[in-house]
Amino acid sequence: MAGHKTIRLKPREGRRARAGAPWIFSNEVQMDAAAKALAPGAVVNVLFDDGHPVGTGYFNPKSLIAVRLLDRALDTVIGTGFFVRHLERALKLRGALYPRPFYRLIHAEGDGLPGLALDRFGDTVVAQVTTAGMEALTETLLRALDKVLAPANVILRNDAPARALEGLDNYVRAAKGEMGRVAVEENGVRYLADLGIGQKTGWYYDQRDNHAFMASLAKGKSVLDAYSYTGGFGIVAAKAGAKDVICVDSSAAALALAEESAAANGVAIKAVKADVFEELERLSAAKETFDIVIADPPPFVRSRKDLEPGAKAYRKLARLAAGVAAKGGYLLLASCSHNIPVERFAAECAAGIARAGRSAALIRQAGAGPDHPVHPMLPETAYLKALVYALD
Ligand code: SAH
Repeated sequence: MAGHKTIRLKPREGRRARAGAPWIFSNEVQMDAAAKALAPGAVVNVLFDDGHPVGTGYFNPKSLIAVRLLDRALDTVIGTGFFVRHLERALKLRGALYPRPFYRLIHAEGDGLPGLALDRFGDTVVAQVTTAGMEALTETLLRALDKVLAPANVILRNDAPARALEGLDNYVRAAKGEMGRVAVEENGVRYLADLGIGQKTGWYYDQRDNHAFMASLAKGKSVLDAYSYTGGFGIVAAKAGAKDVICVDSSAAALALAEESAAANGVAIKAVKADVFEELERLSAAKETFDIVIADPPPFVRSRKDLEPGAKAYRKLARLAAGVAAKGGYLLLASCSHNIPVERFAAECAAGIARAGRSAALIRQAGAGPDHPVHPMLPETAYLKALVYALD
């Protein structure tokens, strides 16, 4: 028995939690003085107003998502054993999916550990903690990780924008071993990743299947990989026989790594450091076209209030990207904003393609790969949308 403090829901609240969702919003909680006095991230027992158990979770009185549930029983001990159980289950799933130890190992609620992402690069694990509750549990998690995997290096990439919503500072440090470059094996390609750059953990495993799909179309084709980062799409396309590949990104460091990765794979890419919108306008004015155009931008809808301007930006990107696609070409448009639903994103893409004067058939609608499991009661955690069109 852990004897956690108790949080009670207001009368008639907790409908989503009753149906199986792992979140409770602050307006659903009886925010009395005792609740407000709890340290952000405290592990608590959660009860419905009538005293029936909701479960064990962690609580942050300062966050809109006040409780994230960790277990459906009360008084569950959130210790090393709890993390070991979740890590082992997650590891078993990845072992069934991938022959090599390169994947997202923990995808937050999808793997029963809200506020935590773990990406694995062989014997290096990169963690990203986004909630006060998981921050308070980090040492326990690290002990469990040592028991289950004993990685040589564990890097805390705790610099995600979401941390501010939980009142957390940003920092990046090695909790074990050292931080630096790692190799990433994906789709038969050995890429390089630098764990210190980029907005994520150093690599976008979520695009693995989409990287492979676009490469499957690339033989003999010219490819424009816009928002290339370190060449996730471009390099595998080059390896699959693309005739030339241009990677465009605003980060010189990401492009330098893409060039180095390409060379290590015996292929060449051309790296262009530019703003993608400006580069697309320039290419269009120069009447340059590509058989395959990929546009995988950073999130344009960072919060709900950005929906309209963000949606407009996706439409403009679709128009400009379709405008430089060759006749009979293919176009991938992606969004990693969980704040825009796939229907709206698809509508903006369709409108942009039409504005470019093109007609298109949607040939693939995909999300993140299966190492990014979605909690069935949190459809909004299916953040990645990748639409592939065959153009006229
Ligand atoms: N396609 C990549 C991931 C892209 S992440 C993959 O599959 O691995 C988004 C990238 O967009 C980042 O590398 C970031 O540097 C870049 N970026 C952000 N704003 C940009 C802009 N205005 N112009 C060009 N690149 C930009």
